[in-house]
Amino acid sequence: MIFDKCYKILVVDDAKDSQMLLSFDLKAAGCDVISAGSGEMALAILASTGVDLIILDVHMPGLSGLVTLERLKRNVHWQMIPVIMLSSSDGEDEVVTALELGADDYVVKPYISKVLFARMRTALRLREKTKALEDLAKTDFLTGINNRACFDELASCAISQAQRSERPLVMAMFDIDFFKLVNDDYGHDMGDKVLKSFAASLIESFRNYDIIARIGGEEFAVCLPNTSIKNAIYACERLRASVEYMRVPLNNGSKKEIGITVSIGVASSVSASLNIDCLLKQADIGLYYAKSQGRNQVPTFRT
Ligand SMILES: [Mg+2]
Repeated sequence: MIFDKCYKILVVDDAKDSQMLLSFDLKAAGCDVISAGSGEMALAILASTGVDLIILDVHMPGLSGLVTLERLKRNVHWQMIPVIMLSSSDGEDEVVTALELGADDYVVKPYISKVLFARMRTALRLREKTKALEDLAKTDFLTGINNRACFDELASCAISQAQRSERPLVMAMFDIDFFKLVNDDYGHDMGDKVLKSFAASLIESFRNYDIIARIGGEEFAVCLPNTSIKNAIYACERLRASVEYMRVPLNNGSKKEIGITVSIGVASSVSASLNIDCLLKQADIGLYYAKSQGRNQVPTFRT
């Protein structure tokens, strides 16, 4: 097999014969192919369709290959897509410019399919490795949910969006009660197991588009876009109750299980000027209040 899976390739070339030849060769190699006759058309296609790799002709009327490349690399949604340039044999300067603009590689026309495929494989492999590293950098190693850095990025985006559209958003903070005792009494392995079970409850209790993260030792946060404070408190209360009934079996093979509880604080973005730090701080005040009132609760006052 030439490629390890069916990749979606966008071929951009103004010359119909070259476009058809590429499409034929790539389909024979097991790829899905979309063709565009110009840079303009390529950008329009990308606006509605995701692709795995782009083969881009340098010489085209209208938006040239280099200008198209520049636009691709300036767009946050497209800049990570690998691009292989198709150049004429005497275009060394263009090749240098293309590589400097962020093209992954180039092939000279008329191309040799074996060489083109090898370069595509390298570019695709590199992209996948980079993506895996990026995902790793965003993930909390223990629980597999978002880490603090990723939460800050995603929640900040959600907050700006909520402010633009004047829709309510709620920030909730969670702290496992007496977590230190779990570690002290049963060891860190058990502590880890409790953190993982708690993260799993968060995933189960909240919606797919809520942003869930572990932001510190036993501290978690959830950002709930398009949610009133009333509904957020209801969701948090449901989570609180499910955690109270959750049992985590001990690692030592005995039948013993332990239970935990969680304290929760919530804050709503009622004021347009609130940023992520303010919201987290307000939610934290609620959390401390929950702790002071005996833990295992969601304070229902408006913060
Ligand atoms: Mg051309």
